Amino acid sequence: MRQLYSRLRAIRNPMIGALPQSNTNQVSAGSTWVFSPWLLIALYLGFVLTPILLAWAQGLPPRKWQDELSSGLALSAFAGLLIEFVLSGRFRLVSGHIGIDTTMRFHQLMARSLTVFILMHPFLYVTPMMNDPLPWDTTAQHTLGLTMAAFSTGLIAWLALMLIVFFAIFREQTGGSYETWRLSHGIAAVMIAVFGMHHTIDAGRYSSDSTLAVFWFVLLTTAIFTLLWVYALKPCGQLRNPYSVQSVRSVALKTWELVVTPLEGDVIDFSAGQFVWLNVGHSPFSLHENPFSIASAPVSRNQISFVIKEVGDFTRSIGQIAPGTVAYVDGPHGNLTLKGRNGAGIALIAGGVGIAPLLGILRQLRHDRDKRPIVLLYGNRVHDQIVYAEELVKMQEVLNLRVEHVLGEQPRGWQGRSGIIDASTVRDILGRPDAENWLYFVCGPLPMIEGVESTLLSMGVSNRQIISERFYYD
Ligand SMILES: Cc1cc2nc3c(=O)[nH]c(=O)nc-3n(C[C@H](O)[C@H](O)[C@H](O)COP(=O)(O)OP(=O)(O)OC[C@H]3O[C@@H](n4cnc5c(N)ncnc54)[C@H](O)[C@@H]3O)c2cc1C
Repeated sequence: MRQLYSRLRAIRNPMIGALPQSNTNQVSAGSTWVFSPWLLIALYLGFVLTPILLAWAQGLPPRKWQDELSSGLALSAFAGLLIEFVLSGRFRLVSGHIGIDTTMRFHQLMARSLTVFILMHPFLYVTPMMNDPLPWDTTAQHTLGLTMAAFSTGLIAWLALMLIVFFAIFREQTGGSYETWRLSHGIAAVMIAVFGMHHTIDAGRYSSDSTLAVFWFVLLTTAIFTLLWVYALKPCGQLRNPYSVQSVRSVALKTWELVVTPLEGDVIDFSAGQFVWLNVGHSPFSLHENPFSIASAPVSRNQISFVIKEVGDFTRSIGQIAPGTVAYVDGPHGNLTLKGRNGAGIALIAGGVGIAPLLGILRQLRHDRDKRPIVLLYGNRVHDQIVYAEELVKMQEVLNLRVEHVLGEQPRGWQGRSGIIDASTVRDILGRPDAENWLYFVCGPLPMIEGVESTLLSMGVSNRQIISERFYYD
C-alpha cells in the first residue's frame, strides 16, 4: 500500500518540471501526447462514486443506516469491479502512462478492497445486531424482498468474487499452469459482471431507476468489450501482421536471444524499453502469450529481439523453437522508456534478465550518439549469466558509458564487484552531487527494485526520476 501510494505520488506528467537537458537526442517513438495519471485517478473516483450520487438523487425515503451503508458499498464496489476489466494491464491508454507495475498493483489493491465491500454487503443487511429476523432464520432472504433469481445471481457473483480473489492471491500455491489460471480468472470475472448485473438491477433498491440502469449498462458493455478487444478483435488484427522467428540462440546460462521479423513491412512502432505480449507458434486467439521486454532498439525497423530466461513451460522450450515459426506480437506496452523524460545523466540498474529492456534503451542511446553520462549497474549471480558482455564493452567506445558488473559468486581472478546490488553498491556507484538530476531505470527481482528505490530516495532522488518495472506481479 505504501509503495502504491508513493508510486501514485510520483506519477505525473513527466514533461512537467523537466530538467534542462544536456543532449537533445531522445529515445522515442510514436506520439508525445501524455495522459495525466491524476486524470485517470479522478476518472476512477468519478466512476465509483457516480452510482451513489445517482442513488441519492432519487430522493427515496431513508432506511436504517446499515441498509444504506450496505447499498452504498455494493453500488461503488460493483462499479469498481466493472472498471477492473480496463485495469487488466492490456490497455495502453492506462498502462502506457502510469506503467504496467502501477496498473497491476492498482488492479490488485482495488480488487482486494472492493472484495471487502462486497463481502460485507449481505451481512450488513442480515447481521443479528442490526436486523430482525436473525440470520439463522431461513426466511431471512424474503425479509430483504429478494426474488429467488436475484438471490441466486447475487450468491453466484459473490462466491465467484471470493474465489477469483483467493486464487489470484494464492495462484502459485494452488498449482496449475498460468494459462489455466488466466482462463478461469476471465470466466469468473465475466460471471461476476453478468450475474452481478442481474442481481443489482433486480434486487437493488436504487438500480431499477432508469438513469442508474443506463449507467450499469454502459459499464457492463465496456467491461465485456474489453474482453472482446483483447481476445477477439486484437488477435484479428495480429492475423494481418504476423511475424516469423528469425533466430534463436543461447546468449548466457539458461538465457536465450529470440529474434522475430515481420513477414511484411516494419515492426510495431515502439519506444526503447517497452514490452510486448509475444505468442510463438500458436493461434493469436490462444492464451499462449507471454510478456517480454524488447531488447532491440526501435532503430532496427525490420526485427525485434528478446532476451529470455528459462523459468517455466514456455521459456524452457525456447531452445527448441525452429526458425520460421510464426509469431504474433501485441504491443507495445509499458512506460519504462526515456520518452518525454529528461535527465542530466542516465543510470540503468539491472538484476539478471532485467537487463532486457535496459539493453533496448542502451542500443537506442548508442544509435543516437547520446552524449550524457550513463552508468549501467548490472548484477548477476554467476559470470555465465552476463549477456552481451562484448557488446557492452564496445558501447563504451561510442557512449559516455561506465559498466559496473556485480557478481554473487565470483570466478577466479574476478576484478569486478562482488555481492548483490544493495544500498552500499548503489551509493558507491551512483552517489554524486548531481544525483537528483539523473534518471534511474531499474529492472530486476522485486527485492532488488525495492532496495534500489529506497536507497535512491534516501539519496534525495525524487520519485519521478525513478522508473522501474518488475517481471512478476505476485
Ligand atoms: C512487463 C514484463 C516484461 C517481461 N520481460 C521479460 C524479459 O524481457 N525476459 C524474460 O525472460 N522475462 C520477462 N518477463 C517475465 C516473463 O513474462 C515470464 O518469465 C514468462 O512469461 C514465464 O512463462 P513460462 O511459461 O515459461 O513460465 P510459467 O511457469 O508459465 O510462468 C512463470 C511466471 O511468469 C509469469 N507469467 C507467465 N505467463 C504470463 C503472462 N501471460 N502474463 C503475465 N505474467 C506471466 C507468472 O508470474 C508466472 O507465475 C517479463 C514479464 C513482464 C510482466
